[in-house]
Amino acid sequence: MQIKSINFAKFSSIKVGTPIDVLMIERDDKIPTDRFIIGGANNLLVSPNPPPLMMLSKDYDYIKLEDNRLIIGGATKSGRIFSFAKKHNIANFEFLSKLPGTLGGLVAMNAGLKDIEIFNLIYSIKIDNRYISKDNIDYGYRYAKLNGVVTEVIFDIGYGFDIDEVERFKSMRTNQPSNPSAGSAFKNPPNDYAGRLIEEVGLKGVRVGDMAWSDIHANFLVNLGNGKFEDAKKLINLAKDRVKDKFNIELQEEILILENRVPLL
Ligand SMILES: Cc1cc2nc3c(=O)[nH]c(=O)nc-3n(C[C@H](O)[C@H](O)[C@H](O)COP(=O)(O)OP(=O)(O)OC[C@H]3O[C@@H](n4cnc5c(N)ncnc54)[C@H](O)[C@@H]3O)c2cc1C
Repeated sequence: MQIKSINFAKFSSIKVGTPIDVLMIERDDKIPTDRFIIGGANNLLVSPNPPPLMMLSKDYDYIKLEDNRLIIGGATKSGRIFSFAKKHNIANFEFLSKLPGTLGGLVAMNAGLKDIEIFNLIYSIKIDNRYISKDNIDYGYRYAKLNGVVTEVIFDIGYGFDIDEVERFKSMRTNQPSNPSAGSAFKNPPNDYAGRLIEEVGLKGVRVGDMAWSDIHANFLVNLGNGKFEDAKKLINLAKDRVKDKFNIELQEEILILENRVPLL
């Protein structure tokens, strides 16, 4: 195992953070239980003082097609999976076209778009190098209780990649900002939209330092330049407080904030 310094101001999709040491897990390594696993940091807000971190190395970046099943390593990026599905005419992975992440992160977040989520396609998941059937995992809207590190996933596949679906998913993103972000900051509460609530409490477009609630889509916390962790936290807390006061709704973060107090796996 080796330690790598990762600068989260460059690596994370929201471009916020500082250089932090991350333990790289290589093939045959025993997976530590006292570190927090990260993937591509597309859903993370990393403080200058996070819990000890680890990450799967490129040993876990692979795709195999065997007997109508796809076997994919946990560090494989969504873009690579999408391209593989397109090239081999495999159905149902079209939603990954603009959805950034590694497979481990996609599974942990049960990532998806509108009517599709990654768990729809999964047959079984290797967690800490042991296969677990999907039926034995508790998962739902943007969460999965994995209690370990996803090193590999087996998908049941059908054939027929649908380019029209790719366009349909693309068109759903026309209201999303192009500034660095971590995707949606909050989960949508039942029967409502976090973006609508943030807008209703007057925070759409509101800026603290170089961080802001986007003026294009209020549920996107965007970095307008040199955004800092503390500014991002202020905006998140402001939105939670105001929405609670006005609507008595507790917004729940979809974005994961890594501070010292984050529970380890
Ligand atoms: C522009 C943009 C658009 C987005 N659009 C969408 C969208 O449409 N739908 C959607 O669902 N999300 C969306 N997201 C959020 C993000 O793409 C997903 O949450 C993605 O699944 C994050 O993957 P990651 O590898 O970057 O994980 P990270 O952000 O690094 O981590 C996220 C979570 O996954 C866990 N994790 C990571 N790797 C593993 C592993 N190997 N084993 C176990 N747990 C692991 C981490 O512990 C953490 O809890 C968007 C983000 C951006 C920046």
